Amino acid sequence: MDKQREGRAVVLGGSMAGLFSARVLSEVFAEVTIVDRDELTGPNEARRGLPQRNHLHGLLARGQQIVEEYFPGITEEMRAGGAHIGDVADDVRWIINGKRLAKVRSGLMALTSSRPFLERYVRDRVVAIPEVTIAQNADILRLATTEDQRRVTGVVVRRNGAEETIEADLVVDATGRGSRTPVWVQGLGYGPVPEEKHKIGLGYTTRYYRVPDEAFEGNISINTVASAGVPRGAICQKVDGGRAIVTAYGILGDHPPTDPEGFLDFLKTLAAPDIHEVLQVSEPLDEPAGYKFPANLRRNYHRMTDFPAGLLVAGDAVCSFNPSYAQGMTVAALGSLVLRRHVTASRTPDPLAYFGDLATDAVDGCWSMAIGADLSFPEVEGERTEAVLQGHALIARVQEAATRDTSVARAYMRVIGLVDPPSALSSPEITAALAGAETDR
Ligand SMILES: Cc1cc2nc3c(=O)[nH]c(=O)nc-3n(C[C@H](O)[C@H](O)[C@H](O)COP(=O)(O)OP(=O)(O)OC[C@H]3O[C@@H](n4cnc5c(N)ncnc54)[C@H](O)[C@@H]3O)c2cc1C
Repeated sequence: MDKQREGRAVVLGGSMAGLFSARVLSEVFAEVTIVDRDELTGPNEARRGLPQRNHLHGLLARGQQIVEEYFPGITEEMRAGGAHIGDVADDVRWIINGKRLAKVRSGLMALTSSRPFLERYVRDRVVAIPEVTIAQNADILRLATTEDQRRVTGVVVRRNGAEETIEADLVVDATGRGSRTPVWVQGLGYGPVPEEKHKIGLGYTTRYYRVPDEAFEGNISINTVASAGVPRGAICQKVDGGRAIVTAYGILGDHPPTDPEGFLDFLKTLAAPDIHEVLQVSEPLDEPAGYKFPANLRRNYHRMTDFPAGLLVAGDAVCSFNPSYAQGMTVAALGSLVLRRHVTASRTPDPLAYFGDLATDAVDGCWSMAIGADLSFPEVEGERTEAVLQGHALIARVQEAATRDTSVARAYMRVIGLVDPPSALSSPEITAALAGAETDR
């Protein structure tokens, strides 16, 4: 029998992590209120709370699976609305170290659209849940607590020029990287939130184009991945509205220019000419726009020993990754599965138990992959432990073998799509395939 829904949860932030959180909270709470400073409903292409909105956002295979599980039929709805779907290994041209990976049916779906498009489809489904309401144009100011500050009882917001308190049994902070929870909880007398930062100095530049279909040669995306040899990359991808998005990136200050000629010149220097060639027959639709991402940032809430009851944190507010690995939205989705487990067991879960599971089940593996991959660039600062170096050696073998061996290409796609853990690349089958591929060279 379904559990009775009771009480109210408030979700701070109505972006992807907030929407996934609201979706799972609506299974146990009678009311779920999403608070955001932006106008979320209606045409919201230019919302200021999401400065990354115009840059390429790939939804990894595991993220796509979770989105479809939460909102059955949404993938087909998005396809009908103008998104593109294909197989991540067969309908995408992957170019790593200047070489194309072998094409193979992986059974994993690539869904390509602009970020505002994806968010709108997910949000429309969340808003349609009877328990969910959105408090938009509301600036979140601070938490409300009991007098002894042991329990969070809601949130104070400013709406239409007036302050109001929205009371809640549970508050979930999904306000992204700029989350104020570390400041708030310290102000309430809890220890500092331990933070980890790894500098990457990434720069993105993005431009939309009209690309003739034949230039994609049957692919929905062409991904020229940055590597130690050429630490610059770009992706050219079909998205909604009959457009293609081209995002180029470089690390440690080597950023793609935002003037049209400089942008094209940068694309000419990648490890493969494919995207530059496609753009020779394409029509730009806007001006190139830049974005800077200084460092991977993780807030280690799971290392705290005391935390106020009634408050949890989700998504980028816990961990924000080098975006070129496209993990953020999928990690937010994985985190929502942890949230679902905890609120199903108790509507007001033990925050430290939740943070512990969030770390092990959603964040740890992706964090190690992202930091490990960043450290494969020789100029990136950080300790290269034996495990990191072994990881680099294995990935180099996998990437090389994946240009010829379809079983290795498939296994690699499953790992970078967060469907399988990295340990899958050390299975007896893949170890044998790697050895075979090396003998055949
Ligand atoms: C350039 C770039 C490219 C990226 N590419 C990818 C990709 O390819 N694939 C991928 O999976 N991820 C990508 N990401 C990461 C992805 O954008 C995030 O992981 C994802 O949006 C989940 O973040 P979030 O919901 O936790 O927070 P955010 O998306 O940052 O949203 C926070 C929300 O909180 C609201 N808010 C914040 N403060 C307040 C306040 N005081 N009052 C009211 N409202 C507030 C904001 O308006 C916003 O709606 C990229 C990120 C960047 C920067």
